[in-house]
Amino acid sequence: MVDLKGQYQQIKEQVDLSVLDVIHSTAFINGPEVHAFQKELEEYLHIKHVIPCANGTDALQIAMMGLELQPGDEVITADFTFAATVEVIALLQLTPVLVDVEPDSFNIDPEAIRKAITPKTKAIVPVHLFGQSANMDDIMAIAKEYNLYVIEDNAQGIGANYKSANGKTAKTGAIGHVASTSFFPSKNLGCYGDGGAIFTNDDDLAHRIRGIVNHGMYKRYHHDVVGVNSRLDSIQAAVLRAKLPNLDTYNNARRTAARKYSKAFEGINHIITPQVQGNSCDSSESVICDTCDCHVFHQYTLRITNGTRDALVQHLNDNAIPCGVYYPIPLHSQKAYVDDRYDEADFPVTNRLVKEVISLPMHTELDNEQIDFITKTVIEFVNGK
Ligand SMILES: *Cc1c(COP(=O)(O)O)cnc(C)c1O
Repeated sequence: MVDLKGQYQQIKEQVDLSVLDVIHSTAFINGPEVHAFQKELEEYLHIKHVIPCANGTDALQIAMMGLELQPGDEVITADFTFAATVEVIALLQLTPVLVDVEPDSFNIDPEAIRKAITPKTKAIVPVHLFGQSANMDDIMAIAKEYNLYVIEDNAQGIGANYKSANGKTAKTGAIGHVASTSFFPSKNLGCYGDGGAIFTNDDDLAHRIRGIVNHGMYKRYHHDVVGVNSRLDSIQAAVLRAKLPNLDTYNNARRTAARKYSKAFEGINHIITPQVQGNSCDSSESVICDTCDCHVFHQYTLRITNGTRDALVQHLNDNAIPCGVYYPIPLHSQKAYVDDRYDEADFPVTNRLVKEVISLPMHTELDNEQIDFITKTVIEFVNGK
């Protein structure tokens, strides 16, 4: 699904030198590399505060702790996402409220958010799934109307741009009150281990969060709040500093591969290619235009609409083509997150998507030969059915 070795070969010299420098310096924790990376990412995202931490799951949890959400507060998020999003809500004894997504973008449906709001609702967590921004115009408008926080889960969307209807463009993760991201190796900006970060433009929130990540300590050995220990280590920061200048190039390579995939699948029955949505893109619905920078294709995800998705997975496995099903089970059906408040009729889209979606290999090193082989194999199979 990814080619981390091929990507490493391109930047080996710099990564090796930077990592060795950290080892020679022995400044493994909170070294200068961490601070430098923080500043560079703040500049890239045009955001006031980046607070590095240990992983993307921690980042979400710490963002919620920073907002001082209280047990019983309701937090609305998407039914169709990675479990980390809902897990941290539950861990903090907040009440997760899962809602349906849109069939074209796979992202949380603003109308479903609106319907799920109660007097206990305190926050919305949109996930920029597969690398495409959720509908932030509508989500921010709802949040304003009901006085809710917006916490962007940007683990899959780093580098994506979101253009509002008013013409203003911002990076995903710099739109809501606070955002989280992950530097897990296979993410668009991945380190060589675990890593994550929290972003915000709010000075007070940033200050609270800087204490929370460090045992609730604002003055040495004075613990004002219950915190956690969550750090990005210096070696990972050195890797990320080597990769950040390439992030736009990496995301362009992903988009180029996505465009080639979509072109090959154009007009094929029973295959729906990823749709680029919203004001961000001037292109016609199904094509990814040349200038489009609103989708960073963390995943390239097809919908197979004739009931043969599982057979296609098997067929690709038999042909040594990696593929993935993200995600096979709606969160509202997961044992850990079942809740009497849900009605199956509330999740028609997620319930369908879990049976239709398949993600093809997507990374920065895909070449034409690989894409041709993959698309040919998929089309032959789906046409034969
Ligand atoms: C990867 C991911 C996370 C968690 O990140 P980790 O660094 O693995 O903890 C959270 N949310 C989403 C949507 C993700 O894809």
